[in-house]
Amino acid sequence: MHCLCVIGTRPEAIKMAPVILALKENDHKVIVGCTGQHDVTSILKMFGLQADIIFECQCRDRGFFLGEAAGNIIGHGKTWKYGTIIAQGDTDTAAAASMAAFDLRVPFTHIEAGLRTGDMDEPRPEERNRRICAINASIHCAPTETAKENLDLENLAGKVYVTGNPIVDALEFMADRVSAIPREHPGCVLITMHRRENWDKIESVARAISEMSSRYDETFVWVLHPNPEVTRLALDGFVTVGDNFIIHSPMEYPQFLKLLHSCRLVVSDSGGVQEECCYYKKQLLIMRDKTERPEAIDYGVAKLVGTDADHVCEEIEMALDPPAPDYKLLGPCPFGDGNAATKIVRAIEDYISRE
Ligand code: UDP
Repeated sequence: MHCLCVIGTRPEAIKMAPVILALKENDHKVIVGCTGQHDVTSILKMFGLQADIIFECQCRDRGFFLGEAAGNIIGHGKTWKYGTIIAQGDTDTAAAASMAAFDLRVPFTHIEAGLRTGDMDEPRPEERNRRICAINASIHCAPTETAKENLDLENLAGKVYVTGNPIVDALEFMADRVSAIPREHPGCVLITMHRRENWDKIESVARAISEMSSRYDETFVWVLHPNPEVTRLALDGFVTVGDNFIIHSPMEYPQFLKLLHSCRLVVSDSGGVQEECCYYKKQLLIMRDKTERPEAIDYGVAKLVGTDADHVCEEIEMALDPPAPDYKLLGPCPFGDGNAATKIVRAIEDYISRE
């Protein structure tokens, strides 16, 4: 089958890469198309991949971006007969790819389908984008049973498959590379913050955590996001403190995983990091009021702490006070067993064979 895999951002490249490899291993022809929301060249390269097409999108205004990206994919799709168009997650790129597939009458495969908070504003625009993907999709690849239940309630066209999340495949793919990296800042507190609905809180959280770090022996490492606006907000907030507060530019994937693996506590509003903390059994404070990954909370590693700066600091203090929790006895990662990519390929083949 001829497949178009559309990628926009860093997490999409990480989660799509194992699927592209599995499609190729199963003799499907894959075209990798990037919309350039983030530069994903180095991530794809780590998996031995590269973009085949760049869908040049000039518009940074979000509404226009959706239309431009969908239009570019439709233009390209008209000259190639794709068996399926595949996208992952909840970005504007994923929504655009789903709309293009719908217009081209090509079955759309949605990876990481069925995540819901039930609140269109949180996360915004991700909750809307997931719903756009769902109404356009034929092949819904739900990472967990909970995600499948969410989709079942929506009475959608197509077929839902529970496949696991290919983030686990990506983590296993990276394992040797991560082990080979020397440990830096072992036992640190690792912080990331970037979600659009939290932009008005980033400066105050950055200020509060950088101030509180002076009262602790632990090292606090704030890893900045590739989005320059998010970086500016964090930099505006940081106060000058001791050597134990470190501001780090966005990291290459294996370096970031090494830090995640070696740290004592994670404080983040990221979606992918919630899944990775489950895989590494790492304590996580989620800077959100709601999560579309309740599995991370049920699993026992994660807690929702909101985005009020004082409250986030109180939660960090409480988490640092007792000895680090020992999560060794937790069961397997709720997001999959590392075979999601193969299950996604089987789902696509099954659906297409029934058409
Ligand atoms: N990540 C990375 N480098 C960094 C920070 C994060 O490679 O400096 C990875 C992280 O391991 C995870 C993904 O980027 O797999 C998460 O991306 P992000 O937090 O930007 O987006 P979200 O998952 O919230 O959509």
